[in-house]
Amino acid sequence: MIVRIDSLTFRYPNGTTALDGVSFSVEAGERVAILGANGAGKSTLARHLVGIERPASGTIEIDGRRTDGLGIAELARTVGFVFQNPDDQLHAASVVKEVGFGPRNLRFPPARRTELVESALRRTGLNELRDTHPHHLSLGERKRVALASVLAMDTPVVVLDEPTTGQDHASVVLLGNLVDDLATDGRTVLAITHDMDFCAEHFDRVIVLENGGISWDGPVAHWLAQV
Ligand code: ADP
Ligand code: ADP
Repeated sequence: MIVRIDSLTFRYPNGTTALDGVSFSVEAGERVAILGANGAGKSTLARHLVGIERPASGTIEIDGRRTDGLGIAELARTVGFVFQNPDDQLHAASVVKEVGFGPRNLRFPPARRTELVESALRRTGLNELRDTHPHHLSLGERKRVALASVLAMDTPVVVLDEPTTGQDHASVVLLGNLVDDLATDGRTVLAITHDMDFCAEHFDRVIVLENGGISWDGPVAHWLAQV
């Protein structure tokens, strides 16, 4: 199991219980859609996977290691997180610099770095925009830059927060193919999404959060058959 979450509970300082005894495991290469109404706890769960939040109780294991012993930098080698709002994660003056930042930071050797950056630009359809400043891109394009910069870090787990929001049809098709390719490569994709078509076409499994707990977990086909 690449991800193993056991009895994860989390409260915000104001007392809101955002996660309440959440347990599930994910196999390498699985494509998992995380659904649920606003306030269900989806973002809080994603923030735990990347170590932005730490459990109040319960444990998270990624690739066989408990995350409470890992720093953010170490976790970043294992889990990539694409924020819902790309402007939370874009800093560089050009697309290619932005995408190259992660691999440099993780100290991949130069040849490997080039390979990862070029592959990420190609897979996200950004090659033509490589020298453009992210400020001059549309929201949909900036979201693809954020995704490319995470892909370039070559993490075994990729977490996406609302990847299709603000994307045109062609970009959604590209994103879907990308999710499929990642899984074929044995990488694991967890995506928070409200996009049912995207979920039905490109995911294996659905986990529904409700009031901080899991109300449904199973194969996407079973889920579609009962909604
Ligand atoms: P979702 O992503 O499913 O919309 P969230 O994880 O954002 O849900 O929120 C889960 C619960 O935690 C909600 O009740 C929300 O209002 C609350 N919450 C989220 N962030 C904070 C915060 N920073 N401080 C206090 N409560 C929060
Ligand atoms: P999402 O759409 O991803 O669930 P939200 O729009 O609910 O995110 O929240 C946006 C930001 O506000 C997040 O940083 C979240 O942690 C914070 N937040 C959400 N609910 C609350 C809350 N009740 N109190 C304080 N902060 C909150």
